[in-house]
This record gives sequence, C-alpha cells and structure tokens, in this order.
Amino acid sequence: MQSASSSAAALLERERRRFIDEHPESLRRDKALREHWLNGVPMHWMTDWQLPAPLVLREAAGARLVDVDGHSYADFCLGDTGAMFGHSPPAVARALSTQAVRGLTCMLPTELTARAGELLTERFGLPFWQITQTATDANRAVLRWARALTGRKCILVFDGCYHGSLEDTLVRLEQGRVIARPGQVGQVADFASHARVVEFNDLPALEAALAGGEVACLLAEPVMTNAGMVLPQDGFWSEARKLCARHGTLLAIDETHTLSSGPRGHAHRLGLEPDFLVAGKAIAGGMPTAVYGFTAELAQRMEQLLATKPAGHSGMGTTLAANALATAALVACLQEVMTDDAYEHMLNLSATLAEGLRKRIAERALPWHVISVGARSELVFTPTPARTARESLSAASPTLERLLHLYLLNRGVLVTPFHNMMLVSPATSAAQVQSLLELLGEFLHELS
Ligand code: PMP
Repeated sequence: MQSASSSAAALLERERRRFIDEHPESLRRDKALREHWLNGVPMHWMTDWQLPAPLVLREAAGARLVDVDGHSYADFCLGDTGAMFGHSPPAVARALSTQAVRGLTCMLPTELTARAGELLTERFGLPFWQITQTATDANRAVLRWARALTGRKCILVFDGCYHGSLEDTLVRLEQGRVIARPGQVGQVADFASHARVVEFNDLPALEAALAGGEVACLLAEPVMTNAGMVLPQDGFWSEARKLCARHGTLLAIDETHTLSSGPRGHAHRLGLEPDFLVAGKAIAGGMPTAVYGFTAELAQRMEQLLATKPAGHSGMGTTLAANALATAALVACLQEVMTDDAYEHMLNLSATLAEGLRKRIAERALPWHVISVGARSELVFTPTPARTARESLSAASPTLERLLHLYLLNRGVLVTPFHNMMLVSPATSAAQVQSLLELLGEFLHELS
C-alpha cells in the first residue's frame, strides 16, 4: 500500500514537471492572468483542475480543444456538460451569427420565441415554459413558484445534490441534521431551516420528510450526477412520485446533466412525469440559457397568482433572460443539434467507451467499476455502485484522480475535474474513444 501511494506521488511529480515543460505559453499567460484576476482566473472554479497553471485555450470546436501552446485535446469534459453537443455546434453558430446583427437583447419575445416553446413541448411533453439565463436561476424560479403555489416554506433535496449556486439547495445532511454547506462564502441567511435533506434511494426517509405536509417541492436529478453518479434503485422513482402526489409536494426534475441520456432526457426514460422540468447548460448549445417547464394546471395557478401581485420584482429572472440571441441559439439547438441521430451516435459511442473501461479494469482485476448513464461514463475506484451520495463520495481517491487527469491531459485527453466523468458528444470520434482507452491501459500499466 505504502509503495503504491509513493509510486503514485512520484508519477504525479513526473507528470507535473511534464506539464510545466510542455506548456511554456500557458505558464507565461498565467503570470499575466494573475495581474488582474482573482487567483489568476476569471471564475475561481477554473483552478479546480489542479494543474500547475491553468490550461489557456486558443479555440474549441466539436470535441477538440487547442491550447495556446498548440496542444490539441480530445475533450471528454465538454465544459462539464455545457458543450454536451460539441463546441460551437455549426447550426448554433449559424443562428448566432444571423441573430447577432438583428438585435441581441430587447426584453421582448422575438419571432422565434413561439417556435422555441413548440419545440420544448414536443420534446419534453410539458405544455408551458419559461427561459432563464442559467440552470441555477431556473431552479431558483421553480422553488419560488412551488413555495408560492403550495403556501409551504420547505423544500426537499437529496444529500450530495447540486442544482447550481442557489442557496436553498446548498445544504447537506450531517448526522441526521440539515446544515448549510460549509464551502459557502458570505452567506448569512438560514436556508437550512427551510430545507429537508434525505439520502437518495431512501424511501422511508423520504416518506417521513414529506409526511408533515410542509414540503413545497422535491427538487432532484433523476440520477445523481454531482457526487459521482448514483443510480436510482428499481422502483425508487415510481414510489417517490406517488409519495410526492400523496403529500401535496410538487416534483421538480433537473435534467441539466442528464439531457445526455436521450432526446427527451432521463426522466422520460424512467416514465417519470414531473410537475416541473429544468434543463440548462447545453440546451442552447452552450449559450447561457436554461428553461423550466410545467403542467397546464400549474400554469393556470401561476397566472392567477401573478394577477394578484403588483407588477415587477417577483424575485425571479434577470434582464437578459430569454434575450434574442439566446432564443435563436435555443431554437437551433433543439431543432438541428439535439436530433435522434446525434443521440444515437452519443449513446452508441459512450457504450463502447464504458465497455472498454470495464475491459481495462477486468484485465488488471482491479476492484473498480464503471457507471454509465446515457452518454456519461464514470470510472469509480470501488468494486460496487453506491446507493447514496455519501457512499459515492467516500469512494473518491483525490490523488489517484488528480494523477489520472494530469496523465491523460499530458497525452491529449481531457476528462472532467472533480470526478472521473467522461462525456461523449455527437462530435466525439471513435478514434478519440480508442485513444482514451489506450492511454488508460498505459496508465494502469505504469501504476502497477
Ligand atoms: N443543475 C445541475 C444538475 C447541475 O449539475 C448544475 C451545474 N453543474 C446546475 C443545475 C447549475 O448550472 P449553472 O451553473 O449553469 O447554473
């Protein structure tokens, strides 16, 4: 054990040195970035890659990135899902350039807005929609509406969830108590007292949390994707859906990441019919846009509620939401990018990747496994899948992850930071998948 971890540390040092030697221009830019950007980056998450210096990009197209040192990467991170359908999908780029000279933002619907609504309903089934700029903001609006419509203050989420930076959901379960997530900066409001948190797949706990009749909304991903990936157990969602209905709690399904499961998202595959559905990040091809949909009954109650309020300051939305440029990107993405053919390619190639990962693990009899959810695959350093986020997070091995990521990056393959997620886009090629698998084989050989 001792020698395994010291050889991992030695390999990590070797890979760090290689990165530094091969990225002189990124390192030079890093110095310039540090002059004016906090921590040297325009958004502090960009240091979560834990590289000796940030990878500074020259361009991104399809499933390929090129950095300022001229290195090219097969991108399996895809902006942590924002570029799920490839970087700059040509149809979205065309729609953007057409719209760019016809108005960027006007705070009014455009001639494309009705079409966007039709496309969303055809795809996801829900009849009414609103647009926000981010998935965070769509989730925020959904929770607001749910509280307003039910007259209840509490929301319920699963431990280990992530639905964006809205504070209502930045809570977790600590020895049976709900607490604010400790990473938050400068937050003084007590959101924990208006939140219930239960473990995923724990139906008795879910029932107990709903039973008091205080929960306005259960907000959840159909499969947890932000604490590794945690699959719902058989029958979990059908029972959870019934429990929500029985206790008057609205069910909001966040498909932001799981849009990669199929053209209609993951809930549809499970036969799960939510009251609200949220999709962000990739829904407009990577332009800052998100949507939330809801039932006709809810729409009617929302309209009635709005009619009783003075105009303005509902606490939802931003000036630029549903702007003309974003609407053009949304229509192009729904109509021309998220096609059945595109999904077929993503799902088939992702299955090849997952199978290849499993084969590499089996060849070396490693006590690891692979979880695949649609076009997402995750390599997990434990023998069996987790049932809850807590179990999943305890399987993480930060040094090994960091080493694997840097090893692959130094050889032209990028996977998602924070975990070992590999996303396949319609632009990803079979050759890119093969190269990832070969590199993983070489990595495991060196590690052993
Ligand atoms: N929902 C889910 C499931 C997410 O994973 C994320 C972000 N990773 C969000 C919502 C928030 O997206 P954004 O940061 O674009 O607002």
